[in-house]
Amino acid sequence: MKQKINNLGSSSRIKNILHELNDRVIKLEQSPTNEDILLPCPFCGSMDVQLHMNKFSYDYYYHCTNSPCLASSGSKRTAQLALDAWNGRA
Ligand SMILES: [Zn+2]
Repeated sequence: MKQKINNLGSSSRIKNILHELNDRVIKLEQSPTNEDILLPCPFCGSMDVQLHMNKFSYDYYYHCTNSPCLASSGSKRTAQLALDAWNGRA
């Protein structure tokens, strides 16, 4: 009935991971985010704007889910380009 639990190694590993995550969170918070703000729909003002990926072309587009508006950014190569296109219209 001897139970030897050697969790010293794993707990220090977990500490390292937590440290790393903490650093990343701080970096994320410090990085400029105003370019990544998704603007509301320029046509109907709805905030129900979603990113979609075209399953066939792998293009990305933002689109207003507020029926009957359903405005779209148009298909772009990357999610970032789709975001820029969407925000550029607003
Ligand atoms: Zn809309």
